[in-house]
Amino acid sequence: MTTLIKAKDYIDQNLDRLIKECAEISVKAIPFLKVVLVGDNPASLSYVRNKKALCEKVGAKCEIVHLDTNISAEDFSNKIMGINNDNEVHGCIIQLPIPHQLKKLKIYEMIKPVKDVDGFGSFNVSKIYKNQVESDSLISCTPRGIMNLLKFYKIEISGKRVVILGRSHIVGKPLFHLMTNEDATVTLCHSKTKNLKTICKSADILISAIGKHKLINSEFIHKEMTVIDVGISLDEHGKISGDVDFDDVKEKVATITPVPGGVGPMTVFSLVENLLITAKSQIYEN
Ligand code: NAP
Repeated sequence: MTTLIKAKDYIDQNLDRLIKECAEISVKAIPFLKVVLVGDNPASLSYVRNKKALCEKVGAKCEIVHLDTNISAEDFSNKIMGINNDNEVHGCIIQLPIPHQLKKLKIYEMIKPVKDVDGFGSFNVSKIYKNQVESDSLISCTPRGIMNLLKFYKIEISGKRVVILGRSHIVGKPLFHLMTNEDATVTLCHSKTKNLKTICKSADILISAIGKHKLINSEFIHKEMTVIDVGISLDEHGKISGDVDFDDVKEKVATITPVPGGVGPMTVFSLVENLLITAKSQIYEN
């Protein structure tokens, strides 16, 4: 029978730990996240509300800094600098996507490493790249969530063949290094990859982060496989769908994540885990 991997199981077991940890830190100062949102992208609005809600559930503070979609690069940089210099703020994220006029900025490098709860900046990325990850390292949220979910469900990684679809800075690439660090043999695929089906079929663990609904069907999988679906897109009926054709695949693999409810909530949970790491490092240092 296929095992369903769901974020809820991990979160149910770990939420109290996070609440307790936050309360301990809050004796000195309440962990404080600022989420910078530019414009009114409906998906982004929904994501930032989820982030704020979980922060508050855990006992941390979260402020959404909502900026006009036409903000200049200079004004935007000044805003981020202000947050970097604010000792009361322990973590900051810039909600993606950002509008065109800000794309010339080195957006991933703008938040200082100690507050970079998304873990996108070079300092934090290099820890993963160099296999120097420690318990207080800031690993980008979706890859961190996927690694935690696999460990929680006791899915063995060492010695396994892992195929990752999508080479983004926020999912595919960090995951490639995290998996390599855990002694998996990893193949990273993208839109120019040839023989995708054959490569996917060779995987023990297949992770798809593409954003093309139902691209992965039963021709890409085998019955021993673990399938992790990161993709979020809308299908032809406007319904949220993953990259995997869940109904076609679910009975034909060993383990699978549904969309929604599989990986998605892990990303927000990891963000709050990262916030507590940054809060601790700043509060106890001062
Ligand atoms: P992205 O920047 O949207 O890039 C997509 C990646 O998929 C690119 O590397 C692209 O290749 C590759 N790709 C596109 N079509 C492909 C195909 N037919 N075969 C193989 N590879 C293909 O990536 P992202 O930001 O990581 O987002 C990917 C998906 O994950 C989106 O649906 C996003 O909404 C979702 N996501 C979910 C979460 C969550 O919490 N669940 C978090 C982050 C992202 P090229 O590089 O060659 O263009």
